Amino acid sequence: MYKIMTPGPTQVPENVRMARSIACTNPDLDADFVEFYKETCELISSLLHTQNETLILGGEGILGLEAACASLTEAGDNVLVLDNGIYGKGFADFVRIYGGIPYIYSADYAHTLDVDALAGFLSKNHDFKYATVVHCDTPSGMLNDISRICPLLKQYGILTVVDSVSASFGEYVDVDAFQIDLLCGGSQKAVSAPPGLTFVVESGDAKAAMKNRRTPIASFYANLQAFEGYYEKKWFPYTMPISDIYGLRAAFDNIAADSHLYERHAAIGSATRDALQAAGLNLHLKSGFSNTVTVFDIPDGLTADQILNAMKEKHNIMLAGSFDALSGKVIRIGHMGANATLSNMTETLRALDDVLRTFHVPLNVRLDTYFLERFSA
Ligand SMILES: *Cc1c(COP(=O)(O)O)cnc(C)c1O
Repeated sequence: MYKIMTPGPTQVPENVRMARSIACTNPDLDADFVEFYKETCELISSLLHTQNETLILGGEGILGLEAACASLTEAGDNVLVLDNGIYGKGFADFVRIYGGIPYIYSADYAHTLDVDALAGFLSKNHDFKYATVVHCDTPSGMLNDISRICPLLKQYGILTVVDSVSASFGEYVDVDAFQIDLLCGGSQKAVSAPPGLTFVVESGDAKAAMKNRRTPIASFYANLQAFEGYYEKKWFPYTMPISDIYGLRAAFDNIAADSHLYERHAAIGSATRDALQAAGLNLHLKSGFSNTVTVFDIPDGLTADQILNAMKEKHNIMLAGSFDALSGKVIRIGHMGANATLSNMTETLRALDDVLRTFHVPLNVRLDTYFLERFSA
């Protein structure tokens, strides 16, 4: 088994794995399970500083994104797709599938989204039902400032769908202060449960938009409205994956008990970037560095596979390459959730230092030593 230091799925702590193995009741018929589900949803809402309702859906992160788009989009709706990364652009597909008309607002893929430029665009173009925003665009590690982007869109009455699958619980999110209408998260990134669940946090405005549709939602499994009144009716639209939800609850209990969660992610993120740069490696981005993942350019003369294979074979550590336009160009270190500990990162950077030196990449400093110095500073 490799130590996985990838930007999702991440390492799963033992208490989460144990929680997935406890005896199951019938989640369709046992009212205690409905209580447990609701309490878990409320815990997620409270950790995101909102009373907005959270729903846990039985499917991987992509289901949350698709459910948000399916539930809001009607044929002919104009939707603003903010694009400065691969997931950013990808939202246009969900919009089209459900009959919407995406307006793709493409910006520099090397920089965090320029909120002032967006404000200028919106002052002339704001006839959009909703906008899609990616919090951390994982293939490049791009972090966008949802604390400014979402309130700006809201000023024009534009609802927001935020993909925070690889940011939430590694980067701070306040759903109410940021005025997010549909926030989408997943189990397998900073939450550190296995893949299989997604959660969506819905504002009153988002619920009203679904209620006021002229046409029915064109999906069953991706229909957020299908959960309406589940608690009162003690009824779910489909059988809930109970073991996955037991595990998810343990993962959120871990998060609730962790008083230094965001400080630790920030310290690890910045010390990692400092170490790579001091060694002479190139961070892939110019701005917008997420504290959940660090992405660096592959040094000249090497391939992604050479580095990734040597990390696995010699050090038993799995890092990730990337995909789409970034395929073969960058290496990604995922330092979110259970991955984000001092010992995991020191071990990973010591191994990376060794691998790069074996391939004769000149490094100005020892990656792990420099990291530790910066982390403690
Ligand atoms: C991981 C991730 C998702 C979930 O989908 P995958 O199937 O794991 O790709 C969605 N959005 C972002 C930004 C992610 O990083």
